[in-house]
Amino acid sequence: VAPLALPSHSRIYPGHEMVGEVIEAGAAVTDFSVGDRVTRWGRANDCRARGRKDLCPACRRGHRVLCQIASEPMEYQPIGGGFGDSFITPAATLLPVPDNLTDEQAIFIEPGAVAIHAAWRRPAKTGERVLVLGCGTIGFLLIQTIRALQPDCRITALAQFPWQAELARRCGADHTFLVSDDGYAETAALTGAKRYEGRLGNKMLLGGFDAVFDAVGIAPTLNNALRWTRAGGTVVLVGVNLHRMKLDVTPVWYQEVDLLGAVGHDVVDWEGETLSTFELAMRWMQEGKLNIEDLLTHRFPLSDYRQAFAAAVDKQKYRSVKVAFEL
Ligand SMILES: [Zn+2]
Repeated sequence: VAPLALPSHSRIYPGHEMVGEVIEAGAAVTDFSVGDRVTRWGRANDCRARGRKDLCPACRRGHRVLCQIASEPMEYQPIGGGFGDSFITPAATLLPVPDNLTDEQAIFIEPGAVAIHAAWRRPAKTGERVLVLGCGTIGFLLIQTIRALQPDCRITALAQFPWQAELARRCGADHTFLVSDDGYAETAALTGAKRYEGRLGNKMLLGGFDAVFDAVGIAPTLNNALRWTRAGGTVVLVGVNLHRMKLDVTPVWYQEVDLLGAVGHDVVDWEGETLSTFELAMRWMQEGKLNIEDLLTHRFPLSDYRQAFAAAVDKQKYRSVKVAFEL
């Protein structure tokens, strides 16, 4: 709920995972020409988008989502988003899309950049056991990203439906279990953790996963994530949920479990280079490390938006992962 206090959140245009073509460029724009295929990155109100020479610490580092001046008043407001046939945005919020990436791949650059940033918050080490909670677009991309970053680790995915578990395995998960399974028993079996049960159904593990990535981010998943992590392990909160939640933080002090957050994209060091996670997402798609073929499940014209939302929400009926608008 805290972000709602920010004036920059007073107006939000939906649609930030997108690909499109530049149809008009201002006189001062030098990096792009009409016809360039682009995706959007960064915030339309961060230091770079404002054309500031003096960048805030977050923008200087490249983590533009954490810009400290993003909520200060702007002379010109960006208008529109991906749920429309055109929008106005500062040139500094655009990135060129390489010709050898399809439009379908290009709309996964942003969620790919998010997954890469999340995986980098707590890189899996050799031989570690990692759990990904949630099998949506970010969950599937996270599984692939954790695997690309650390080929020698054991990845388990928690899915809501069996078809999601199947897809998680195709994305590189070694094990899966379902929300309807006993997660404590599954975690104990997969990690060798000892399971204890107290009064009123209170359950606790000693041992557990080395790292858990919660790509759902609701109270049940985050409470489970904290309890299914070994002492000294890490939980990364990736899923976005703008609600207050009731959380048992006992594992944070009693088991010294680290709880980290991950938001948006960042810059990372990879094979001797410092890259935006957007650039790394594009590179990993070109190298076949990030595969999106099975993830784009539905396409709708914008006029069928009701059906598109129905498909995106009812994952059991539609077996949907990523739902895209075609314009
Ligand atoms: Zn900034």
